[in-house]
Amino acid sequence: MSWTPRRAGTAALLLLLAAPLVEAQSRLAQELPVPVGHVFAPTDLPVPVARAFEPVALVLPVADMGGTTNASATATQISSDLALPAVATADQRRTPVDLPLAPTDQRNEAVPAQDNRLDDAASLTPALGSATDALPFALLGATLSPGTFRKLVWDSVDSFAASEIPATVLVAHGVERGPVLCLTAAIHGDELNGIETVRRIMNDLDPDQLRGTVVGIPIVNVQGFNRGSRYLPDRRDLNRFFPGNRRGSAASRIAHSLFTQVIRSCEALVDLHTGSFQRTNLPQIRADLEDPGTRDLAAGFGSTVILHTGGQSGTLRAAATQAGIPTVTLEAGGPLQVQPDAVAASEAALRTLLAARAMYPRDAANNPAPPTAPMCYRSRWVRTDHGGILASAVALGAEVTVGELLASVVDPLSNERHDIRADSDGRVLGMAFDQFVMPGYATFHLGTKSTLEDCIGADEGDIDETADGEAPAG
Ligand SMILES: [Zn+2]
Repeated sequence: MSWTPRRAGTAALLLLLAAPLVEAQSRLAQELPVPVGHVFAPTDLPVPVARAFEPVALVLPVADMGGTTNASATATQISSDLALPAVATADQRRTPVDLPLAPTDQRNEAVPAQDNRLDDAASLTPALGSATDALPFALLGATLSPGTFRKLVWDSVDSFAASEIPATVLVAHGVERGPVLCLTAAIHGDELNGIETVRRIMNDLDPDQLRGTVVGIPIVNVQGFNRGSRYLPDRRDLNRFFPGNRRGSAASRIAHSLFTQVIRSCEALVDLHTGSFQRTNLPQIRADLEDPGTRDLAAGFGSTVILHTGGQSGTLRAAATQAGIPTVTLEAGGPLQVQPDAVAASEAALRTLLAARAMYPRDAANNPAPPTAPMCYRSRWVRTDHGGILASAVALGAEVTVGELLASVVDPLSNERHDIRADSDGRVLGMAFDQFVMPGYATFHLGTKSTLEDCIGADEGDIDETADGEAPAG
């Protein structure tokens, strides 16, 4: 017998239960009849369960971990024959969450997500049409016809099934030939603003009005996201390992997989981040303005603040730029929260970009900002010289003048108070949340509007997303 999940695709739900039946039924009643993709965020579903659902053949080899019976052995054999992974037990199930992560538009729900190849095979033959008509777009083993929106899956590494967590890749392939723009978010798993931004942008795109292709990965670091962590489970920062190495560390392999399977298909890339470590950023673009393609890309964001940084080695931005793919990071807000202002600003910036690059009609893009000259800033960090509780006196984005009070730091034990004042005129591009700070902590990121030439002449160094707002050394 040579069953495959696909052959089993039209079969009715096959459910074989090992002993004891009563307890297993009880578990199933509580656990299984959950519509995938509705109650559970896509990434919250253990893969074995998701995969067992989608081929509609479900085998439970060991319903009770306390013993094995002939029935369970039979079930295991059938599971093997069906080429299905083992099903997670009830204990392995995660708590359902109610985040706005599942795409609101379920246009592609009918397609089993775990097999990108189950696609419109007919589209492999390019349609006859004008030179401006889009050709089929291939990604992750799928081929999209012009004018389609699809939800694909990127499996980062070959891993044992229980730990394998695929990432969702949304693709809008337009009817007209054009560039491939990619959006990545949550490479740091605790940076939520980008997730919501990508969700909004992708699900609002009408492929029939799109020129080119937009690829959006709302959550790259799924494992970090599920744990509310910036890092991968091994505490490595994924954004230090690009372009990655197929035989390297886990982080390096994941980076390599993303880079080869998705990023190399991009012709422009926007990597979404937030401030980190209790800091928040005014929405801003970080880009290597010395790279002509990246400079053009950055210019498409309208009045969004731009900072020039080459980008530290190992970041997705630096690696992609190095590979000839114009790339910017879009920073907005802080980690561990969804901030409506930051999300709205990011969304508007991306809509402006889509219109500026003639990928999407301006009137269909929810009135993006009209194109303006890029707003390039030179910047520096203001540090505290004293430890204590930081209490800010200014807001993110405020224009301040030299000598103006930015914050006070109060020693909670001695009650001594020290003021932090602006050392020059500038705009607050980033700032620490009110918190306990140590002497030397970077508290305010002040920027001065500058010319493109001046910005290029002064690389902002490691204010880049490598540290997401950490100040330069010294
Ligand atoms: Zn980040």
